[in-house]
Amino acid sequence: MQTDLSKLQQFKRRVGLSHAQLGIPPDYGQSCGLTLCPEPEELVDTELDFYQRPQKLVAAALRSWSSMRAAAADDEVSLFLISAFRSVEYQHELIAAKLEKGQLIEQILRVNAAPGFSEHHSGRALDLGTSGCDALVEEFENTIAFQWLMENSAAYHFYLSYPRKHASGMDYEPWHWCFQQG
Ligand SMILES: [Zn+2]
Repeated sequence: MQTDLSKLQQFKRRVGLSHAQLGIPPDYGQSCGLTLCPEPEELVDTELDFYQRPQKLVAAALRSWSSMRAAAADDEVSLFLISAFRSVEYQHELIAAKLEKGQLIEQILRVNAAPGFSEHHSGRALDLGTSGCDALVEEFENTIAFQWLMENSAAYHFYLSYPRKHASGMDYEPWHWCFQQG
């Protein structure tokens, strides 16, 4: 039986290895303004996302997302999943692919959290879309869906993680919402 501490240490080791391979500065954890987001023990399957891919969330986040989506639908507002849980390895591959295309790590880290620091690791973060708007674009903020979320999401414990001028220096992400209970 492993202790929680050794699991956290293992997680940190995986993250450190990934950062070294990607050329992420060793002080990233101190300077990024983001917190480490360990992966949960248990995840459950959600509905298929917009691209018909399977997705996972922690159970409480899924229950709340399902209620929120249904309430939005009652108000004739469409909301759908674009992305939910992502592993450290997934985040690593995402960044490695961008490096391979010639992007600089500094550029990439403005739009992608480093492996270990993405809220998507927690199984509580959602990227949301709505009909009539491209996926993951800033124009999402001009949709009725975004307005609905700003007015109603707190009742379902979902919050906008990266508002304009976020302390981390991450770009504004009106589509990214995280479940924070208690
Ligand atoms: Zn996101």
